[in-house]
Amino acid sequence: MSAVMWIIQAVYFVAAVLFIVGLKGMSSPRTARRGFMLAGVGMLMAVVATFFLPGVGGATNIILILIAMALGGVLSWVAGKRVPMTAMPQMVALYNGMGGGAAAAIAARALITGAEHGTSEIVLAVVGALIGAVSFSGSLIAFAKLQGWMSSWRFRAQNAVNAAVLAAMVLFAILSIVYGGAGWLLIFFLVALAFGVLVTVPVGGADMPVLIALYNAMTGLAVSFEGYVFGNPAMIIAGMIVGASGTLLTVLMARAMNRSLANVMFSRFGESNVGEEIEGELKPTNANDAAAMMAYASHVIIVPGYGMAVAQAQHKIWEFVKLLREHGVKVSFAIHPVAGRMPGHMNVLLAEAGVPYDIIHDLDEINDEFANADVALVIGANDVVNPAARTNKSSPIYGMPILNVDQAHNVIVCKRGKGRGFAGVENELFFRDNTRMLYGDAQDTAAALIQAAKSLLG
Ligand code: NAP
Repeated sequence: MSAVMWIIQAVYFVAAVLFIVGLKGMSSPRTARRGFMLAGVGMLMAVVATFFLPGVGGATNIILILIAMALGGVLSWVAGKRVPMTAMPQMVALYNGMGGGAAAAIAARALITGAEHGTSEIVLAVVGALIGAVSFSGSLIAFAKLQGWMSSWRFRAQNAVNAAVLAAMVLFAILSIVYGGAGWLLIFFLVALAFGVLVTVPVGGADMPVLIALYNAMTGLAVSFEGYVFGNPAMIIAGMIVGASGTLLTVLMARAMNRSLANVMFSRFGESNVGEEIEGELKPTNANDAAAMMAYASHVIIVPGYGMAVAQAQHKIWEFVKLLREHGVKVSFAIHPVAGRMPGHMNVLLAEAGVPYDIIHDLDEINDEFANADVALVIGANDVVNPAARTNKSSPIYGMPILNVDQAHNVIVCKRGKGRGFAGVENELFFRDNTRMLYGDAQDTAAALIQAAKSLLG
């Protein structure tokens, strides 16, 4: 191995270490920023080292690569600065699609110049192309749906059609491996892209984050296969890290929703109103009474959910919490792993509002504390506090771990009306004797609570 190659491999090794350390950092909000920086530095090192690889090509190639990098860099920098938190899932979908498309394009190049590669490399290139192309078109459809440009589309025998297209895709993959040539390859790519579209169009908008996590894992896998084909360890390791973490995220999200991946992809979950009507009455309260109850409590636990994200109420909630804390009330935030519509949704919003990490607790940490809390304040959460998940075997959310809000001495639920949650089921918590409904948009309600607390506490 030449001295240059030794240095390049050493740089790739350091980059791989930085990816792993960076990923570890991303496991906590405290260290996430540093983790992103480290992984970014690793990626930059790997990219720069790649310019020195033999076979990158002459000046024309280098100029083309630099133009592409400048275009991509500027576009993603501007988009990253402008995109609101609520649009983050579609941004992830879009970037993920680009990764899948890039892996498929790399595979296309390997397959067209097939003579340079052995059989195992050609097979892996085709498998990577297949995964990358499906991830590319599927992620773009996911983006369009989350952006509101497309709605779900279902037709009779959809699963049978998908199975037939899947079979055709595998057939054309085999033909591309056996016969090579641009013709088979083109048909193979078209069928793979069609398959990505077909499996994504029926999935409901709110299930999209799980599918995006899956496509993310697939993109990682495709990149690592192409890394093997081109003998590039940085691509193999980066791809495997993305593949493994994306798979874990997909599994954890599906598990936290107590659903299988097949159920996420092939069912109409949440589209119809399911579950029995609950007898009893909803007991409304107002901001003054609710603020007084919390101002004279010892411990208040706040449970944010999707409604807080919709209303962007996190800043006002934190302002209200600061007033309570100044008055000596202990306030904790309880976060359910699938509250909101994307992993870490609530953590990100609370961090953006400046809520200190040490009063934000995961489900496992805080669930036993509800029984001793004076007040549980639910802000736009529904499914993640529905006791039916514990008791009602016929409920679609049966088995999903929930926050034990019902065990608090008093429960205040802030929501606009009788709207159901993502799962479309009624919530008996709202009808319980110790629950009071504080109706209104979460942001308006939080503003009213601040006013009430100020006039009460001076
Ligand atoms: P949820 O069950 O979807 O309920 C949200 C509630 O917020 C609704 O009942 C709605 O009632 C209320 N709301 C909506 N807009 C509001 C506003 N502006 N102000 C006040 N309230 C408002 O939410 P969740 O408890 O957070 O549960 C999340 C659900 O999403 C779970 O079923 C989970 O499985 C699913 N999911 C999560 C993820 C993830 O990664 N986090 C991904 C996919 C699916 P009103 O209409 O009456 O106001």
